[in-house]
This record gives sequence, C-alpha cells and structure tokens, in this order.
Amino acid sequence: MKKAVILGERKAGLADVAEPRPKDDWALVKVHIIPMCTEYKMFVAGHKAEYLGHEAVGEVIAVAQPCRVQPGDRVVVQPQYPCGKCRLCVAGDYIHCLHCYDFAKFTGSPEGSATYAQYLLKPSWLLSPIPSDVSYEHAGLALCALGPSFGAFETMRVGAFDTVLITGAGPVGLGGVVNAGFRGARVLVAEGHPWRRDKALGLGAEAVLDPARDDVLKRILELTDGAGVDKSLDCSGVVQAHRLCIDATRRRGHVAFVGECGQDTTFRASPDLIRKGLSLHGSWHYNLSLYPKIMQVIRSSPLAAKLISHVFPLSEVQHAFTVSASHDCAKILLKAWE
Ligand SMILES: [Zn+2]
Ligand SMILES: [Zn+2]
Repeated sequence: MKKAVILGERKAGLADVAEPRPKDDWALVKVHIIPMCTEYKMFVAGHKAEYLGHEAVGEVIAVAQPCRVQPGDRVVVQPQYPCGKCRLCVAGDYIHCLHCYDFAKFTGSPEGSATYAQYLLKPSWLLSPIPSDVSYEHAGLALCALGPSFGAFETMRVGAFDTVLITGAGPVGLGGVVNAGFRGARVLVAEGHPWRRDKALGLGAEAVLDPARDDVLKRILELTDGAGVDKSLDCSGVVQAHRLCIDATRRRGHVAFVGECGQDTTFRASPDLIRKGLSLHGSWHYNLSLYPKIMQVIRSSPLAAKLISHVFPLSEVQHAFTVSASHDCAKILLKAWE
C-alpha cells in the first residue's frame, strides 16, 4: 500500500509499505478520505515522520473474527488505541484512556497505525457507522473539524441564549463557528489571519476581531453591554488567547480550552475564578455517545460542508501540506486512492 511520509523540512512524499492484517477484534479499513490536521507543523519544522495522522474515513474490508463491524461497513475511524475496558473507555470517554495499546506490540508492526495511508487497523468499537445519506467527505467532519468544539459545547451547554467567543479560526475554530451557529448561539471570533477571518464571517460569525489591530477585550465588552460573553472556546493554543477567554467571559460563565498548548497560562484564583464564579474546562475530542448528534449537524447544517476548503489526491501530499502550512485553508481532505 501507499502512505504519505515527511522526508524533511517542507518535503513530503509517498512510500510503499506492507499492508496491515486484521487481528482479534481489530478490523482492516480501506481508507477513502484522510482529513489533514496538525501534521503540517512537522512538515514545516522538518521532523521526519513515517506514521502520520489520526483522522480517517473509510470502509471495513476484513475482520479476523466476528466483531462490531463487518466488511462493507462505511466508518469514521476514531483516534487513538484505547483499551476499551477501563472506566473511562466504558463511559465513552475513551480519548482519556489510561491504558492505550502499544500498537506495534499488539499487531507486530507499526504499519497500519498511520491514517495518511491506504489501509489501517482499528479496534472495531472505534469504527463509527456513517449513515447512508452522508458521504465519506462529509463524514470526515466528525473528527477535528466539528468534533472538538462539539464536545466542549456539550460540556458548557451552549445554546440559543448564549454569546460565544471563539479564539483561533483554524479548522477546529471554524468548526466551532458552525456548531455554535447550529445551536442558535451568537458568535464572536478573534483571529488575525485574513483568509480565516473571511471564512469565519462566511460561516456566520457576527464579528471577527483581529488581535493585531483591535483592542479585542474592549470590543467584546462593547458588544456584550459590558458583561462579557457567556462562554468562550480557545482553539488557538496561544497563551494570550487563553487570557482573553478568561477576561472576556462574564461572571458565572464558562471557558473551554481545545487548542493544544505546552506553555504556562497564568490565572489568579480569587479574581479570575472564585469571585468571578468562572468554570474552566479542558476538552479533547468528544464522548463517543455524542457521535450521532455530530452526524445530525453534518446532515442538517447548510454550513458544515463549507468547512472543507480543499480536496487533494494523496499523490499531491507535498502540495497539500504547503496549502495546510499557509493557513489559507479550512479543512483539507486527501483522497487516499488518487
Ligand atoms: Zn481505557
Ligand atoms: Zn485532528
């Protein structure tokens, strides 16, 4: 099979490797669509990588034993290799599993772990069925396009009476704009990149503020009668945006962090949290029980499909990474067999 690899700084290509084989209740999936996520960061930094990606959509083609899927099933491939047995897995919060499989140890080879490939292996319970009226392309939005914000909005109970601030309008933040709009919320966005600012407006954001030019906090307070937004979602992973979310959210409001960040964000327990009554949430992906609702958004929102800005054949992965790194894009999909 073919798979995409990062060969060096801004250099990607294809490699030929052995096809993986199904084992126990891990099914073999023929990948149709590969949604691109944060892998461009390795492409830009020149981190060589042979096993790329955590998002895929495809078709089950073989199983080793009777399990939760069968050949012919169209599926969304959920991320990670969680144990399926611990308390968190059983509750659907498998993304936080403490006993994830060592892929290579379990299957005997690391091949089949990458999603930037024509075949992969996955525990059958993490292959979510795609309704017959949803295309492979659109089903891919159930991963890191609509997924992370959906999980966070469920936790914060975002609804029609809320004004929501979204910081960072990459594919995940733009997915947040779609999800918030679908729930009837009013949406404000903080984003500096011109392409993404336009996209956020096109997806229904009421205002898109530029941190480089606007006094964003002041503008948000003006737009909310001085109170601040009801709920904030950071999709940027930028410390200043974390701070903005805390400062721009009203008393008794909620803030969720979705954008990954390894740096320190400071907050003050009394003025920021205790006196303000603010709730902070870390949110990574979504509980598996929410998957049918995300499919409902994909089916019913006229804006969801607009999250897909580019579709490239896997053979053009070099160009696809260049576009991804430019940030002039929302969600980019690769077609695994072209
Ligand atoms: Zn587990
Ligand atoms: Zn992702």
